[in-house]
Amino acid sequence: MLELQRYYDEIKDCRRCELASGRTQVVFGEGRADADILFVGEAPGFHEDRQGRPFVGAAGRLLDEMLQSIGLSRSEVYIANVLKCRPPGNRNPEAGEIESCLPHLKRQIELIQPRVVCALGNFAAQVLLGRKVGITKVRGRHFQVASYFVFPALHPAAALHQDGLAAALREDFQNLKKFLESDPRPQTQPEQIGLL
Ligand code: URA
Repeated sequence: MLELQRYYDEIKDCRRCELASGRTQVVFGEGRADADILFVGEAPGFHEDRQGRPFVGAAGRLLDEMLQSIGLSRSEVYIANVLKCRPPGNRNPEAGEIESCLPHLKRQIELIQPRVVCALGNFAAQVLLGRKVGITKVRGRHFQVASYFVFPALHPAAALHQDGLAAALREDFQNLKKFLESDPRPQTQPEQIGLL
């Protein structure tokens, strides 16, 4: 808990990339410092940048609803993003920005030590799996990476913007629920394919 807070204090004035000049504040993440499940989205949007909290806009409301649908609340999980600062106009993260910001996500994972990291959308899935994959190919399944499982799911914003994806998002969360109920334990000899 303290360590995570200390890390936030260390990086709240981060200037590792040019997003620092356009942000209101670093959006570090929030939730339980020793959560079993960490949700990772893409980057803060307008509301997140203003409030300094992840997933507080429309996509955040849908994420809350999805969490509730599988019997979880924000206070039981941790929620963060690949990028800690808002890209201008909510454009996609650039490769250099991801590279600059990745040490922050890695450190969060080290400190929180989740068993399952749910990657929301393409960017998070690719960063967490360490390879170029389309979310539609990997969603709703689990992959052991280092000492945790990565579970890619659709991004809630995709379900808001594309007809027909709401049911798929719901399905991903139901599959996540089933996976969590199986009490997953990462093996001691993990495939070293990912982040840590
Ligand atoms: N809000 C966030 O914090 N992250 C996203 O990826 C989208 C909206």
